[in-house]
Amino acid sequence: MKDAVIVGGGLAGLSAAWRLRNWDTTVLESADRVGGRISSEMRGQYFLNWGGHVYAGEGSATDRLFRETGTLVAEVPGTLAGLSMNGKLLLRGPVASYPFRVPMSMAARIAMIKAGAKVGLDVLRYARVVRARRGERPETRQMRVYGFKNDRSFADYIGDLPDDAWAWFRPTVSRSAGDPEELAAGSGIGYFSLVWNIGQGLNRSILGGPSVLTETMAAAVRDRIHLGARVSEVVSKKDSVLVRYAQDGTEREIEARTVIMATPATVTHRVAVDLPAETRDALGEIVYGPYVSAAFLTNETTPQPWDGAYGIATPKRSMSVVLNMGNIVRGIEQTRQPGGSIMAFSPGALARRLMDRSDDEVIDAYTRDLDEVLPGFGGIVEESHVQRWELGAPYSFPGRGRLQPALLRPSERIFLAGDYLGTLYTETAIQTGMTAAAGASAVLATERQMRHREPGGPVEVHG
Ligand SMILES: Cc1cc2nc3c(=O)[nH]c(=O)nc-3n(C[C@H](O)[C@H](O)[C@H](O)COP(=O)(O)OP(=O)(O)OC[C@H]3O[C@@H](n4cnc5c(N)ncnc54)[C@H](O)[C@@H]3O)c2cc1C
Repeated sequence: MKDAVIVGGGLAGLSAAWRLRNWDTTVLESADRVGGRISSEMRGQYFLNWGGHVYAGEGSATDRLFRETGTLVAEVPGTLAGLSMNGKLLLRGPVASYPFRVPMSMAARIAMIKAGAKVGLDVLRYARVVRARRGERPETRQMRVYGFKNDRSFADYIGDLPDDAWAWFRPTVSRSAGDPEELAAGSGIGYFSLVWNIGQGLNRSILGGPSVLTETMAAAVRDRIHLGARVSEVVSKKDSVLVRYAQDGTEREIEARTVIMATPATVTHRVAVDLPAETRDALGEIVYGPYVSAAFLTNETTPQPWDGAYGIATPKRSMSVVLNMGNIVRGIEQTRQPGGSIMAFSPGALARRLMDRSDDEVIDAYTRDLDEVLPGFGGIVEESHVQRWELGAPYSFPGRGRLQPALLRPSERIFLAGDYLGTLYTETAIQTGMTAAAGASAVLATERQMRHREPGGPVEVHG
């Protein structure tokens, strides 16, 4: 019997596997690669990126994992809050100045200033709510974050606005994968806080690309990872858990003392059939929005206007944001090296529009828009690839907060992990993976002690 089976080899599952690497574990991953929604590939000094890209800073579970795994990181260089709108590219200056600098009607400008001031004040309130308090558990803080303006949608909170004012808000809010009509007001405000980098932001990049972290953890447990292993059912027995899965066309099962379910909530809901009814129901209520992303390797030989920016919101385009992955190299190089790497990113409704189009159509749509946002872009593209994410990210909708107690209900041998358990994406995935592993290892250590005490149980010989 295995000590632990970890279902899902994304960031949450790999964090748990890393933490449990001195126990007898198996990781079952349905895809043909580990990493889940972390996906990047190196190209010389640059990397192409399709998934999670910015990570939590000092004091976070992510920070501790970076240190343990020896992962090299850098503060994201340049602004996260660039804007390309109505023909104007703004990469410098305070965000509060944008309404005065983007060409638009006076009515839209006034509405944007008023709504911007309202969001700005609430971003400060949100930063106070998010701030960790001395000695408090991450779960308590998370409950407070979910509770912040969780009673209505972001669209209801902002109210009616002229189109251009809405266009400014939409790309930032919808990066959560939920459109403003679906997303809770507090979560939309939280997104502005992330992008404006107030409070606990996601503001670090992984040198060499995000897959360096997942590959490092996977390498430590390489012989225990089964790829192409799709788990169909997880059933509790008296003193163990049975995991049924299919691999290479064969139905298999493994028995384990503990199981960590690090799959998306929709999968965990379907597979973990005898979790408490309340927990299973709550899992069934988690909502994911889709993402489409594309990575472009570029071959410019001279500095570009966007060299100093990391994130550029792009209202009224096929993507909502352009992310300059090459900027991580810009931040550490002595002189401007040739080349670059750009990621285009479409969440929610924009993703739904692109999801069924061919790769070539998506690349064409992105390249046309990118060429207008980043002048000359069309002429420097060397390589491009699209990725579709049906389950892009779980977003916080009005009422999401009330599900949290049922999701955190302790279970004897089955532990839940994944970004859907909180509001900080990669940080939540890592933190819940580590917490689930701690829960499992407490069970395993206790039972090992008990076995040693039983008459005829194993005897440890020292010396
Ligand atoms: C385009 C994009 C941009 C993002 N940007 C950021 C960002 O900048 N910062 C940030 O913090 N977050 C970002 N995120 C979110 C971040 O990537 C996720 O929060 C995080 O990677 C989730 O990790 P996870 O382990 O919880 O889930 P996943 O990565 O989804 O892992 C779940 C794993 O379970 C496997 N699985 C599913 N079903 C089964 C089954 N039946 N049996 C076995 N295995 C199964 C899946 O294949 C997958 O590998 C982004 C996501 C995307 C897609």
